Amino acid sequence: MKRVDTYQHQGARHQMCLELQRKGISSNAVLEAMESVPRHWFIDSAFESLAYEDRAIHIGNNQTISHPSTVAIQSQLLELEPGMKVLEIGTGSGYQTAVLCRMGARVDTIERQKNLFDHTRPLLRELGFTARCYLGDGYQGLVEVNRGPYDRILITCGASHVPEALMSQLRIGGLMVVPYGEGSQSMLRLRKMGETSDQWDTEQFGTFTFVPMLGGRAM
Ligand code: SAH
Repeated sequence: MKRVDTYQHQGARHQMCLELQRKGISSNAVLEAMESVPRHWFIDSAFESLAYEDRAIHIGNNQTISHPSTVAIQSQLLELEPGMKVLEIGTGSGYQTAVLCRMGARVDTIERQKNLFDHTRPLLRELGFTARCYLGDGYQGLVEVNRGPYDRILITCGASHVPEALMSQLRIGGLMVVPYGEGSQSMLRLRKMGETSDQWDTEQFGTFTFVPMLGGRAM
């Protein structure tokens, strides 16, 4: 399918990035990536007029593409450097995945819902984003694929606990960004200082509302 990115889209995206700056996003790497990735390609065309507003939008299967400001904050908290290996939990629409790719990360991403996985994997490929997409339960990480340890782990759904299996797939010194809690979530950034859970440095960055992270087999 041919995808268009008109001057109107680009203008709306520029306005979105100015709004993100007003909301405190200061990372040029994040702003440049979000200015260049067409968010409207990751949502149903029926919602296209809303693509550059700071809001979550339904993507089917009771899931949403995160607010642009949430994508920006999570991306900024990761303190990414080009070439870093990143594991994302919750591929969803693929928009956050694309932003991480555009920032130069090597991304592995896990989605638990087959419908979304079947939609988004070919979309990312068609758009030229070279993330590796996996269907599975992100609480378990990607042990069987054995591509870790990761420099960064990003969870894009609300986790009721910090998944220990994921922490073990993070390199020492690496960062994990996780919206933590049920109902609403605290945005936590954990730095792994050693192999045990008393060796994680924790910082907190405001309250958000995410769709819940669900455990169990992919479906
Ligand atoms: N990053 C996505 C956010 C989508 S919402 C985007 O920008 O569009 C969160 C996603 O996490 C949903 O697609 C949901 O199906 C998925 N999810 C929930 N629990 C999960 C789990 N245990 N493992 C992997 N993905 C999960």
